[in-house]
Amino acid sequence: MLHHEPLRPPSDHYPPDEWNVIEKGFHLEFLAQLETMLALGNGYLGMRGCPEEGGPNAENVTLINAFYEARPIVYGEEAYGFAKTGQTICNVTDSKNIKLFVDDERFWLPAANLIRYDRRLNMKSGTLDREILWQSPAGKQVLISSRRLVSFANRHVAAISYRVTVLNAEAYIVISSEMSTNEASTSADNDDPRLAKAFSGKVLHQKAGYAKERRVVLCHATEKSRLTLACATDHVLETACPHTYKVVHGEDFGQVAFTITARPGSPIGLTKYMVYHTSPMASAVELCGQAEWTMDRVTAQGFERLLAEQEQYMNDFWRRSDVRVRDIHEDRTKRTTVEIQQAIRFNLFQILQASARAENAGVPAKGLTGQAYEGHYFWDTEVYVLPFLTYTSPGIARNLLTFRYKMLLQARVRARQLGHRGAMFPWRTISGEEASAYYAAGTAQYHINADIMYALRKYVQATGDEQFLWDCGAEMLVETARLWLDLGFFCSAKGGKFCINSVTGPDEYNAVVNNNAYTNLMARENLRYAAQTVEALRTTEPHAYNELVRKTKLEPCEAEAWLRAAEKMYVPYDETLKIIPQDDSFLDREPWDFQNTPSDHYPLLLFYHPLDIYRKQVIKQADVILAMFLLGAAFSTETKKRHFDFYDPLTTGDSSLSSCVEAIIAAQVGDIDKATEYGMAALLMDLADVGGNVKDGCHIASMGGTWMMFAYGFGGMRDDDGTLSFWPRRAPHENEKLRFPVTYRGQILEIEIGPEKVEYTLTEGEGLVIRHETEEVRLTRERPVAIRLVSRR
Ligand code: BGC
Repeated sequence: MLHHEPLRPPSDHYPPDEWNVIEKGFHLEFLAQLETMLALGNGYLGMRGCPEEGGPNAENVTLINAFYEARPIVYGEEAYGFAKTGQTICNVTDSKNIKLFVDDERFWLPAANLIRYDRRLNMKSGTLDREILWQSPAGKQVLISSRRLVSFANRHVAAISYRVTVLNAEAYIVISSEMSTNEASTSADNDDPRLAKAFSGKVLHQKAGYAKERRVVLCHATEKSRLTLACATDHVLETACPHTYKVVHGEDFGQVAFTITARPGSPIGLTKYMVYHTSPMASAVELCGQAEWTMDRVTAQGFERLLAEQEQYMNDFWRRSDVRVRDIHEDRTKRTTVEIQQAIRFNLFQILQASARAENAGVPAKGLTGQAYEGHYFWDTEVYVLPFLTYTSPGIARNLLTFRYKMLLQARVRARQLGHRGAMFPWRTISGEEASAYYAAGTAQYHINADIMYALRKYVQATGDEQFLWDCGAEMLVETARLWLDLGFFCSAKGGKFCINSVTGPDEYNAVVNNNAYTNLMARENLRYAAQTVEALRTTEPHAYNELVRKTKLEPCEAEAWLRAAEKMYVPYDETLKIIPQDDSFLDREPWDFQNTPSDHYPLLLFYHPLDIYRKQVIKQADVILAMFLLGAAFSTETKKRHFDFYDPLTTGDSSLSSCVEAIIAAQVGDIDKATEYGMAALLMDLADVGGNVKDGCHIASMGGTWMMFAYGFGGMRDDDGTLSFWPRRAPHENEKLRFPVTYRGQILEIEIGPEKVEYTLTEGEGLVIRHETEEVRLTRERPVAIRLVSRR
């Protein structure tokens, strides 16, 4: 059930557009929200969408993935094995500020007389574009246009092309390009536990700082995490007007200020290049040198080249990833097709911005659009984001799985700490160490082990990248299977079934429970996949098998024990209701009094003590329902429907990870109204600020979930039985169409679903065999196969 206020309609100031998120007019009250929505990033570097000139409360936040500071977690009462080190992503040196003065009057957006204002996140070119016509207090008309990008091709590079033309008079112009470090963040230290913890005092300590002509380099380091950052800016000014410049730099500040005598109609163009390099081991001198090499290269190549590379990157991305809708029936959705198309692209674009160049790092829950959840990586990546990446940008998916593999050593140590065999991946982390300070909704979420292995299987199956399975995956499978076997036990009180006690499932409103059904079902998959992989290796890849034995000290009898646990896995079942209860005691809990819960008391976690919540039958996010989606082949439509009817009224959707999953199951069981309602909530989670917290960052998992809604929900894609098949649902109205590409085993397949038929086209590759429902479909290049659709409930 959706317990939120109705979606806020986008105001007239945000006209829908298929390729742009547009802001017409400057509205202070939406500034923070817009900073998130118009953020740019490439998975390594992220810049919030603050105006170049700054603004009141503007969070000049610039983030670098995995650049964090550590702090001891202070508990009122300590206990053995609690996570020790908190990790918080840092607001690094901000370099995008450009202040403008006309005849000594500062161009200050909140007070400016704006004749024209247009700012847009251009998802085709991967840029943030702005055009403003400002009338200064002295009546001078100033045209200001800017184009900002964070480069996908050069992950250390961002740039702004900033142009000023005084249209109707001469004027003295100062353009002050600035850098600043250690700016306080206004969103930290709020009561909302989802926000980042603030550090007191300076986080970044200066290591070097210098200027050369129009270039300034600042180098800082963190104290505890011992990470070093070099940030360089350089400038090219193009104008026919007379000008001079001055450079100033200090410990936390850099400035290149250009003074120009502007002639009417004569344009002034400033290109600002920004370069970031970070390292856990390089010295300040080394890192500054690296930043300068990069800077030398990009300034020589110029802005146009950066732009062309960006457009090329975006073209490639959309070719592999664009989900297109046509003539979506407006009565049903109460949104126009353009709005829906815009939201789809926005979500996919933000996932790209969160992950594209996240090399040796993960995907933070908010991407690089805000500091909420402290820049931590959760299961969000594997369950919600990786399916999209696996089927559209498998290279990025591989990087993210490799990053998990690199955490294996720490995961082994953590398992040991908790008295387990095998490996235990952290619930939330940046460095690989567990950073969750609340074990009941953190460390207890053992399911993350199975989630990562689930994503691994999907990746290997979709790409055919067995090398990765042999080199990295198998080792993770052995260690995670060992953990499950060690964690659970064959319980005589449950007829000798394999039980897993004291864990928390995805639903954080029922913590530390016995036999969470999601966990047990997913652990079973993990155990089976591990056994199957080890066996495949032993029989077909003896060399890789020996290597695995050497690395893991694998005993020949282990796989058999995993299979025994999997076969005997206990999954709770209630004969009367004919449902899988979420855990052993879920049905014993007192029902939550939804009727007397004020609508402004959601999310419940902000208004009720955890114990109050834990002892009631109330759910934060899809749990059993999620298992029924992820392991869909194991459940009939009737079973899914029975479970959806039971769980939906109890599910608050207090986590943004819920709506997309509810939408998929609703679509699968034929509840089109609910599918639409949930689908819209997920799709517009950020653009319409459904949860009211977009100012703190985008909901990247939900964004990944919206792709799953189209591919798995409406497209009827299935892959959990080892093959790729489609069971599409007819588009309910004339002309309504859905089209999306899927990369499978290196080839690209486009699926178009309309009211009458589905069409499969192989757009790249030599030949591919898939299934339409149970029927085999052989595809060859550019020869579409059309199949008539029949109505199905
Ligand atoms: C959800 C988790 C999720 C986290 C980060 C929490 O509110 O309950 O499932 O991993 O947010 O997105």
